[in-house]
Amino acid sequence: MSIDEKSTSVERQLSGTDERRKRINRMKKTIIITCIVLVLIPIIVCFFLLIRVNQLEKDIDNLLSMKESGKIVSQVDSAGERYLVLSAGTEEKSEPESEKETESETAMETTTATKETVEETTTADTYTGRRAYLTFDDGPSVNTIPILDTLDRYGIKGTFFVIGKADEQSMQLMKEIVNRGHSLGLHSFSHDYGTLYASLQNFSADLTSIHDLVKNATGKDVKLFRFPGGSSTTTTAVDIREFIKYLNDNHYRYVDWNVSSQDATGKAMTAEQIASVVVSESLGCNNAYILMHDAGGKESTVQALPAIIEQLQANGFRFYPIDDSVDNLCQHVKSTSVQ
Ligand code: ZN
Repeated sequence: MSIDEKSTSVERQLSGTDERRKRINRMKKTIIITCIVLVLIPIIVCFFLLIRVNQLEKDIDNLLSMKESGKIVSQVDSAGERYLVLSAGTEEKSEPESEKETESETAMETTTATKETVEETTTADTYTGRRAYLTFDDGPSVNTIPILDTLDRYGIKGTFFVIGKADEQSMQLMKEIVNRGHSLGLHSFSHDYGTLYASLQNFSADLTSIHDLVKNATGKDVKLFRFPGGSSTTTTAVDIREFIKYLNDNHYRYVDWNVSSQDATGKAMTAEQIASVVVSESLGCNNAYILMHDAGGKESTVQALPAIIEQLQANGFRFYPIDDSVDNLCQHVKSTSVQ
C-alpha cells in the first residue's frame, strides 16, 4: 500500500468516526428532549388539575353556604339518591343542625337572636352576609339585665325564650326585654320534660299558660316557641310531630339552634371556653343560631358575651333578633315535614 492509499484510508476512518459522533449526539438530543417532555407533561397536567380542584372547592363552599342560608335544600328522590334543589322560598329552609344540648339538662336553655343595630334591623332583608342570632333560654333571672346591658352596649338585639316565672320581678324583666327592642319567645311554662311532653293535652295547656303569662307581662301575643331540649328531643311520651302539628295549626313558629354554647351541659364552663366554643362553631355557619342560657347561675355566659360579639363581628357576622322577618328558622325537625 502506497503512502497515498494509507492516507486516504485514515481519512475515511476519521470521516466515519465523525458520522458516528453526530449520530450519537442526535440520539442524545432526542433522548434528552423526550425525557424533558415526559417530565413536563405530568407537571402541566397536575397544574391544570390543581386549578380545577380549587374551582371545585369554591363551588362546594358556595353550595354549602347556599344550603345553609336556605337558598337550596337537599332532597331525596324515589331511588334514595340525595340531591340539591333551589328552595321555593318556603317558610323553613334547611340549616345545618347540631343538637349539643344533653337530655340531662333539665331547665336551662335560652335563645337570643340579635341585630347589630336598629338601623340594621330595618335593612335585614337586604343584608346578604353572615348572620348570628343570639338566643337565651330559661330566663328571666338575675342574669337577664346584665345581658341586656351588654347587648345595649354593642347596639345589638337578641332573643329571649322565657319560662313560667310568674313573680312580679320576672314579669317586669319580660317587659324590659320587649321595651329594649329584643325578641321574646316562649320556652314552655313548666320546662318539666316529664309533664310537658307527657301528652298533647299537657303540651297545649302548658303552651297556653306561658303564652298568657307573657301576654299579661308584655301585652304581646307571642307566637315564637322553642322546645325544651329542641324539636329533636327524644324525651317525649308521644311523637314530637303531634306537638309540631299543634304549633302549626295554632300559627306558632319554633326555632332550634345550630350552635350550642354548651353552657347547660352539666359541666362547668369558663367564659373563655364558652366563647371559644360559640365562635368556632359559628364560623362554620352563614346563619348561626346560638343557644345560650340566661338562667340563674349562668354568670359565665354573661361574661363570655362581649368576646363572642366582638369575635363574630370581626368575622363578618351581624346580629339579629328572631322575629317574623326571619324565614330560615333552624329546626332540627322541620315544621314543614308535619302535615
Ligand atoms: Zn330550656
